[in-house]
Amino acid sequence: MTDEIAETYDVIVLGAGPAGENVADRTAAAGLSTVVVESELIGGECSYWACVPSKALLRPALLRAEATRLPGVDTMVTGPLDAPAVLAHRDAMVSGWDDQGQAEWLESANIALVRGFGRIAGPRQVRVETPGGEVRLTARHAVAVCTGSRAAVPALPGLDGVRIWTSREATSARRVPSRLIVVGGGVVATEMATAWRALGSRVTVVVRGERLLPRVETFAADLVTERLRESGVDLRFGATVTSAERSGGPGDRIDVTLGDDTHLVTDELLFATGRAPRTEDIGLDTVGLTPGDWIDIDDTCTATGIAGDWLYAVGDVNHRVLLTHQGKYQARIASAAITDRARGNALDTADWGRHASTADRLAVPQVVFTDPEIATVGRTTEDAARAGLEVDVVDYDLGRVSGAMQYDPAYRGHARILIDPRRRVVVGATFAGPGVAELLHSATVAVAGEIPLDRLWHAVPSFPTISEVWLRLLETYRDEQHSRVGA
Ligand SMILES: Cc1cc2nc3c(=O)[nH]c(=O)nc-3n(C[C@H](O)[C@H](O)[C@H](O)COP(=O)(O)OP(=O)(O)OC[C@H]3O[C@@H](n4cnc5c(N)ncnc54)[C@H](O)[C@@H]3O)c2cc1C
Repeated sequence: MTDEIAETYDVIVLGAGPAGENVADRTAAAGLSTVVVESELIGGECSYWACVPSKALLRPALLRAEATRLPGVDTMVTGPLDAPAVLAHRDAMVSGWDDQGQAEWLESANIALVRGFGRIAGPRQVRVETPGGEVRLTARHAVAVCTGSRAAVPALPGLDGVRIWTSREATSARRVPSRLIVVGGGVVATEMATAWRALGSRVTVVVRGERLLPRVETFAADLVTERLRESGVDLRFGATVTSAERSGGPGDRIDVTLGDDTHLVTDELLFATGRAPRTEDIGLDTVGLTPGDWIDIDDTCTATGIAGDWLYAVGDVNHRVLLTHQGKYQARIASAAITDRARGNALDTADWGRHASTADRLAVPQVVFTDPEIATVGRTTEDAARAGLEVDVVDYDLGRVSGAMQYDPAYRGHARILIDPRRRVVVGATFAGPGVAELLHSATVAVAGEIPLDRLWHAVPSFPTISEVWLRLLETYRDEQHSRVGA
C-alpha cells in the first residue's frame, strides 16, 4: 500500500537542470510558491555528465598542450597527464555525483522539491512517481517542462549488447580505455576525442561527413583537425559504423565494422551522434502534444498549441539552442512571463520577441573546448550565405597579435568577423586559437549590442592581450582588405 499526496503550488517545474533551477529560482524569488520535480540529480546533465565534467577533463589537456609550446615551460612538461589525478579532479568538480549541496540551495531559495519521475496529467496537473507513492501536483499558474535532452544513438545491429559509451559514460568513466572509437564529428565528439587522447587513449574518430564541426567556420574546424592529427588521433572521414559486437570475458573488446567493411577493434565505443528530447514518457499526450517530440515555443517560452498559456518549455527540450547559458537565458524570460501572467499583467511579448530573437537566434555564443579552442557568436560565413545575407568577411591571423605570441611564439590561430555593410555592425565572430574562450564575450557584446563600428574603435584593447585582434580586424576592414559575400 503506498501513500498518495496531493499538493498545489503556483508553479511546477519538471526537471532541475540549469533551465529548471533558474525558472524556479526566479518564480520563487518573485513570491510564487514553486516546486521542482527531479528524477535524478538536482543540477541536471550539465553539472554531472556534460559541461562541468567535460571541462574538468579538458582543462588539464589544454593547459598541457599550451605549456608544451612555451619555451622554458616545455622542457618541464615531458610526461603524460596524471590521469588518476585528472579523474579525481573531475570527480571533485561534480561533487562525486552527489547533489546534497544543490538540494540545500533549493531549500534556502524557498523552493519545494519532489524527488521522482514526473508526468503531465492534463492541464496544470503533474503526477510524480516517487519511492513513497504517487504525488499529485496542481499548478495554479504554470508548469515549466525543463526535462532536457539525452544522447541519440542510432539503431545498429549488435549495439544493444555492446554497452556503448554515450556522453554520460564519456564524462564519468573511472578508467582510461587503451583504445577508444568516437563516432561523430560535432562538439561532443571532438571535445571527448581531445580529452581522452590527452589522458592516454588511442583514439579513432569516425565521421560520416567530410569535416569536423560542420557548424563552425571551416578555418576553425581545420585547426582542430590539424591538432587532433598531430596528437595522434586517427580521423576517418566519410565513414559510418554499420555494426558492433563486444566479445566479453577475458580480453574483452569491441569489434566494429564500418560501411566500407573496414574492421576496427576498441575497448570503448562512444556514440556522440546528437541529442533527443526527454519527452517520450512525460504525459505530453494528455495535453494534445506528441510524446518524443521537441516542444515548440513562442518567444516567451510558452508552449504553442496549448490553451490557457500555462505550459512552458525551457532549455534543451525546446530545441532552440542546446547550451546551458541559453537555457538559463530562456529561464529568465519564461519566469518573467509566468510572474507577469500570475499577477495579471499584460505581457510585452513584442519586446521579449525582439530580445529573444537576438539572444536566442542571432547572437548565440559558444565555446568548443578543443585544442585549439573555438569561440563563436552570431553568424558564420556559411549560415549568412544560407540566409541570403550580404556580409563583409574580415580575417586576421591571430599568430601576428602580440598577446598571442606571449602564449606561444609560434601561435596558430585565426579570427574572423562578419560585418553587415549597410548597418556597419558586427553580425558574427569566430576566434580559433589557444586562450580565445575568454575573448568571446567581447564579441557577444558587439553582436548583441549592435555596436556601430565607429564606436568599436574606441573600445581600446589592452596590450599585450589576444583582444588586440579587435583593433587589427577593424584596421583590416578600414583598409578594405576584406571580401564581400552573399546577396
Ligand atoms: C558532453 C556535453 C558537454 C556539454 N558542454 C557544454 C558546455 O560546455 N557549455 C554549455 O553551455 N553547454 C554544454 N552542453 C549542453 C548542456 O549540457 C545542456 O544544454 C544543458 O544541460 C541543458 O539544460 P536543461 O536544464 O535544459 O536540461 P538538463 O541539464 O538535461 O536537465 C534536465 C533535468 O530534468 C530531469 N528530468 C528529465 N525528465 C524528468 C521527469 N520526467 N521527471 C523529473 N525530472 C526529469 C533530468 O533528470 C535532468 O536533471 C554539453 C552537453 C554535453 C552532452
